[in-house]
Amino acid sequence: MNGNWIALHTVPRAGKTFVFNDQGIWRGPLKEFGVSCTILKDITAEIFVLPLDEGVLFRGKITGSIALPCDRCADDARVDIEHAFDDFEPYPAGANLLPTADAKESVPRQRTAQRKGGRKSAGGKDAEVFTADLTIDADEAVIRTAPRGPGVEINPAALAWEEFSLALPIKPLCRENCLGLCPICGKNRNLESCSCDTDGTDPRLSVLRALKAKA
Ligand SMILES: [Zn+2]
Ligand SMILES: [Zn+2]
Repeated sequence: MNGNWIALHTVPRAGKTFVFNDQGIWRGPLKEFGVSCTILKDITAEIFVLPLDEGVLFRGKITGSIALPCDRCADDARVDIEHAFDDFEPYPAGANLLPTADAKESVPRQRTAQRKGGRKSAGGKDAEVFTADLTIDADEAVIRTAPRGPGVEINPAALAWEEFSLALPIKPLCRENCLGLCPICGKNRNLESCSCDTDGTDPRLSVLRALKAKA
């Protein structure tokens, strides 16, 4: 994800949509995190990036289908992903914002000066017109002060990955009523029954028994 930093001033003031459909974006990190996952239908992230006065709005949607190991039986569990998000990232404290590339003829963006109440930051001088002084923590994987020279950089691909991982179910199931593996003999109970005495050994079954008792 480190190679995906983009200079914010190259994003037009009206915003820009970034599309990530190179499957390597997802495969790399999935492998890194040790998640066993097959991509069934290409995962695509579309993120609209809109620079605002105090930060950047990322409005995105991730779609696709993957197979994860079922939490109970370890068979493939199909997970259809349709995940929409709005994420606002404030500018890093002290960031110097460059005018956007398409702002030549318009008035320079005097962010601090526009603020009502004229809150002063540490120096309190006019020279700070392009200084953001918000104290909310920015997500450093997604927005940062440009390491070389002035300006701010954004990494929508890193955000796409973060949101993708949020969209994954914690306990994927191959089907809602998956019977799981027998804790004693290890047989997949969806495929074959066994005669093991599992009374009291499987908390999931005791939940089922309790339900039956109520009914
Ligand atoms: Zn299962
Ligand atoms: Zn068994």
